[in-house]
Amino acid sequence: RYACPMAGGATPMMQQYLSLKGEAGDCLLFYRMGDFFELFFEDARVAAGVLDIALTSRGEHDGQPVPMCGVPVHSAESYLARLIKAGCRVAIAEQVETPEEAKARAKREGLPSSKVLVARDIVRFVTAGTLTEEALLEPRRANMLAAVCELRGSVGIAACDISTGRMELEECAPDALPAALARIGASELVAPEGWPAAPDAIPRPASDFASDDGAARLKAIHGTSTLDGFGSFTRAMLAAAAGLVAYLDHAGRGTLPFLLPPVARASDAALAMDEATRTSLEILTAQDGGRAGSLAAAVDRCSTGAGARLLAEDLSAPLRDRAAIEQRLALVAFLHDDPILRADLREVLRALPDIGRALGRIVAGRGSPRDLGQVRDGLVEARRVRDFLQASDERPALLDRLLPDMGGHGALTDLLGRALVPSPPTERQGGGYIAAGYDAALDELRDVSGNARRAIAALEGRYREETDTPSLKIKHNGVLGYFIEVPAKHGDKLMAADSGFTHRQTMANAVRFNSLKLHEEASRISEAGGRALAAEEAHFEELVEAVVTARQAIAATAAALARLDVGAGQAERAAEGGWARPEIAEARCLEIEGGRHPVVEAALAKSGERFVANDCTLGETDRLWLIGGPNMGGKSTFLRQNALIVLLAQAGGYVPASRAKIGLVDRLFSRVGASDNLARGRSTFMVEMVETAAILSQATEDSFVILDEVGRGTSTYDGLALAWAVVEAVHETNRARCLFATHYHELSRLAETCDSLSLHHVRAREWKGELVLLHELAEGPADRSYGLAVAKLAGVPQPVVKRAKSVLDKLEKGRAETGGLAAGLGELPLFAAAAEAEEEECDLLREKLSATDVDALSPREALELLYELKREA
Ligand code: ADP
Repeated sequence: RYACPMAGGATPMMQQYLSLKGEAGDCLLFYRMGDFFELFFEDARVAAGVLDIALTSRGEHDGQPVPMCGVPVHSAESYLARLIKAGCRVAIAEQVETPEEAKARAKREGLPSSKVLVARDIVRFVTAGTLTEEALLEPRRANMLAAVCELRGSVGIAACDISTGRMELEECAPDALPAALARIGASELVAPEGWPAAPDAIPRPASDFASDDGAARLKAIHGTSTLDGFGSFTRAMLAAAAGLVAYLDHAGRGTLPFLLPPVARASDAALAMDEATRTSLEILTAQDGGRAGSLAAAVDRCSTGAGARLLAEDLSAPLRDRAAIEQRLALVAFLHDDPILRADLREVLRALPDIGRALGRIVAGRGSPRDLGQVRDGLVEARRVRDFLQASDERPALLDRLLPDMGGHGALTDLLGRALVPSPPTERQGGGYIAAGYDAALDELRDVSGNARRAIAALEGRYREETDTPSLKIKHNGVLGYFIEVPAKHGDKLMAADSGFTHRQTMANAVRFNSLKLHEEASRISEAGGRALAAEEAHFEELVEAVVTARQAIAATAAALARLDVGAGQAERAAEGGWARPEIAEARCLEIEGGRHPVVEAALAKSGERFVANDCTLGETDRLWLIGGPNMGGKSTFLRQNALIVLLAQAGGYVPASRAKIGLVDRLFSRVGASDNLARGRSTFMVEMVETAAILSQATEDSFVILDEVGRGTSTYDGLALAWAVVEAVHETNRARCLFATHYHELSRLAETCDSLSLHHVRAREWKGELVLLHELAEGPADRSYGLAVAKLAGVPQPVVKRAKSVLDKLEKGRAETGGLAAGLGELPLFAAAAEAEEEECDLLREKLSATDVDALSPREALELLYELKREA
């Protein structure tokens, strides 16, 4: 993608660059030069464009100036963040030897030092799915990397969040892949090269995806001889895991990030939702791609980033197992019913550092002293939370399961507590993070440099007196180290040969000197400082090792705290909004009293408006509600709110309703509003039909379907005909619970033939010539469409509305005379009967065909048979 010229006649630097660029492939190459990362050629153009920085040039290559841009190393992270956001991947080429080492190498190899370049190597690939840096990650969102592949007709999916080590394996049928990927929402996806099912994935060698390798790698990573202890994994899952680990290996140049033991995800454990449903329900992101306006944003009251990430996971994959849902609900109820306990708990949680991510960085070898401090503080707090909750009575079962995971780190927290200063720095280089009293030798080294520093301070006073120069100062800088400085006019005094000072530098206003004594003290400082740093480094490694050893238990603590936080957040949200604990039932019912749409309600509340709560009661004998009424009347809001209530309930949370009884749903389908899918080159109508087709082929008796304005995108006759047939099919064949909003009055006649279908409408009233939308659901068909009134409300000019009114009168007169759009539809046979009749005809043909001995037919007879069949078909 980022073409760059071939080497040949290039300077040594260019040759080195081009060879690294060859390894980097289609990643942007950050080429380290001193304090900058430089980019060249097409990379420079891309980066300069994305980062909005100056594009310059450096030297020539093949007679052309080489485009170049650069970013300072110390602020590279923020530039990386922007490049990754823009969809780029970056290879970091560092200098892997110092200029001195390069010179020594030149000497050994007998080359002039000007010919030898500092060796550079790609040390890491930075890609959207392989980030661990705090600054590059969003605290409230998981960052998933996924690998997919196909093995003997099954698709394997391996997904991980390396910032916390979570890893999941899953197997599904090829046609379920898009839905599974939509649930995972990976920021980076890899697949075998040339596999057509994942055209947008980053291609990796097909040989990376071998199931035997997958099993072997996972065993090696977790130091086990079998994976049985973690669950049972299919070959397709292991093949995908192999691809995932190989990619991580490649991106980290051999250093693997933190991976917890894999968890096998059963494909039927979660409430199934396809991509269209997720998008239309705006679960984690709103239609505009942002979090604001999404369900997650409206529900999330978590105190920690880890809690918010787990909540997002819950909402993306609501449960189907009643017992599991009840367990979560019991935790929410426990915290809901005790506001004081909840407030205390949330306050403690709010102060909690993100242990999971700090651990991820530490295990990946990118941890800082601050990360160690976060693990320490987090674990100490976790134990406090445990003790505090252990004291309460009538704890729900889930809480009792979580509590043991929150403790058991006594030895580690004790070690970290003694070893680290209270707030350790993010940088390791400067030292100063190991606490006093932890290591006597280190304390002594620090004493030595402290004493020397004091000695230097004393020296300053002594020299001032001796030289009679009160303005004399002892200073320090990176180039000279410690030196004595006097204003230029006093310089001569110290220049004298017997003064004991040696001249080092003359500046415009000052002269700088050294002295033997100062040199001695400075050496003591630097020697002791160097040894102290080395000692701190060694302790750092030990502490990292201790944390790495305990990684699984620490991750379990982080997970338990996150689950607790989700429970507390859900309880808080419920208390805030007057939400109810849903009753989960096995029967195919949906009984919602006073239901509300959490996002619309919040938006209305901002402008001081009130949301009108509505009921919904679907059951075995009243499965399908046909909902009419004016545009803007609240139909799609009603549809969505009921789908969201189902989703929230099965995610194990309270729901925005005064009472709710939810019969477990296996699949949720939402077709609401014409989502703009033009980017994919499909017309709105085509998208609508594709989505409708998916519903008709997949919805079961246990599903819940919301359909809005099916058939709107085509001509009136086509649209009505399709809507009619779809309602009949959902009612007769799928038999799913369904809310169907439409503006076709004609559909109301379906109530005559479909016995589990009932008619409803959103109420509106015309008052003094103005339309009033009541947003209230009522029984019975809509009396009229109020289209013109809505147009007037929307500000369509009065003459146009008037003109439309006279056209309408004409049309309605015509309708009265002819029986209207649906004239004659009453005589249609029932959907099931029609389908049966067709089926019977097919049976006849089939019988005839199977009775024929094809080999015995003469060509003429064969032709005659064909004609006969054709007549009957
Ligand atoms: P329709 O699908 O019938 O065209 P919508 O559901 O899109 O209507 O609702 C249109 C607007 O009406 C919403 O944006 C919201 O502001 C308002 N609205 C919808 N339902 C309610 C309600 N139950 N209470 C108050 N306002 C509502």
